[in-house]
Amino acid sequence: MTLPQDVAVFEALESEVRLYCRTFPAVFCRAKGAEVFAEDGRVFIDFFCGAGSLNFGHNNDVVKRRLLGYLLDDGLAQGLDMYTTAKRDFLARLRDVVLAPRGLDMKVQFCGPTGTDAVEAALKLARKATGRGGVVAFSGAYHGMSRGSLSVTGSRSARAAGGVGANDVTFVPFEDGPAGAFDSIGYLERMLADAASGVDLPAAVIVEPLQMEGGVYPASASWLRRLRELTRRYGVLLIADEIQSGCGRTGRYFCFEHAGIEPDIITLSKSLSGFGLPLSVVMLRRPLDVWSAGEHTGTFRGNQLAFVAATAALELWEQPDFQAGLAATSARLARFAAQLRGVEKTVVVRECGAVLGIDLGDALRAELAQRQCFDRGLIVELCGREDTVLKVMPPLTIDPVTLDRGLAVLLDAVRVGSGQAATGSRAAAPAAVRVAGTR
Ligand code: PMP
Repeated sequence: MTLPQDVAVFEALESEVRLYCRTFPAVFCRAKGAEVFAEDGRVFIDFFCGAGSLNFGHNNDVVKRRLLGYLLDDGLAQGLDMYTTAKRDFLARLRDVVLAPRGLDMKVQFCGPTGTDAVEAALKLARKATGRGGVVAFSGAYHGMSRGSLSVTGSRSARAAGGVGANDVTFVPFEDGPAGAFDSIGYLERMLADAASGVDLPAAVIVEPLQMEGGVYPASASWLRRLRELTRRYGVLLIADEIQSGCGRTGRYFCFEHAGIEPDIITLSKSLSGFGLPLSVVMLRRPLDVWSAGEHTGTFRGNQLAFVAATAALELWEQPDFQAGLAATSARLARFAAQLRGVEKTVVVRECGAVLGIDLGDALRAELAQRQCFDRGLIVELCGREDTVLKVMPPLTIDPVTLDRGLAVLLDAVRVGSGQAATGSRAAAPAAVRVAGTR
């Protein structure tokens, strides 16, 4: 028996732009680990994780304790980009856990707290460092919703909503996509090599090593290596957008590690704080640090609470228990993918570490599956050009029993749409009118 929900103030005051509350109509009040609780008594398993910002689960105890201690001590909550103990601890930990072990001799730029802020800063830096204007991006890419990041986002409708064309940006098909495989690197090589190709030498190529919003398409190691070699040969900077694929989602801290490449610039955000607190960084090869003081500034570059949380999350990342849990979650998802392929021949499953993309190839079927999941207590989001792909991203820390419970709901929901037991009705679905392929 569920209690009534009071949504009147949202409906009266909140802009029509709101999205996830339409897809997941509940008023949430608490969350722990892989579960979120609604005020009407419903409990949901979370396979969405705040769009990838909760890789360490909700209210992770290790991180929470550190935050509580800092708050009780009256630690600085706002510090602009001044020197603080919280920032010092974070930078030192980032160097020791992330940069040094990977041989990344990089500097760290703090920008505004969201992912799109990091992309804006990275593009601006690439243009300044090279003195060139153009950027190459890939079809299906998602990099954010502000002007610069929208310009390198594939979705036509998303760019139209922002009044942003693709000036200065050359789009190249990604290695894989709904239309099939493409020799992106061969094409790019030809465009760069031919002085009459019509494409000027760009400042940078921006790539998601694993396209998430585009439909969960992982780039192969050989493709990424060829891209790295090509960009290096032409003096073009390689920006790896690890905002959603980073912070351990694919089993390594960065997804590009699977290919053994070193980008010139890395953008990181979402799960960096390990707690869902806003924090973004741009990491750049040392010689690229051509900024002069205050040239790219902003009030909230330095979320002290997020620094404290992120420092704890990086310590957690190194724990053998955490690593074992991540490996187990990834292995369980891989077994589920194999099972699904066995029982649902028409469904395409793409996987990379602790993320699955279940491509149902049909928007209505995907929407029904998502709704059935929600009705049975599982939160899972859609992605892909036409929202045909279920994006399965449980917390990396999820316990095996909860993971199995969620996967059982997912399996039923995918099978419902295959014809035998279709019970859902589109008429009853929430009217979430949204710009496709954009989160
Ligand atoms: N880059 C990638 C790869 C993303 O997935 C996202 C968010 N989905 C962004 C950039 C933008 O991040 P934010 O929503 O925090 O601006």
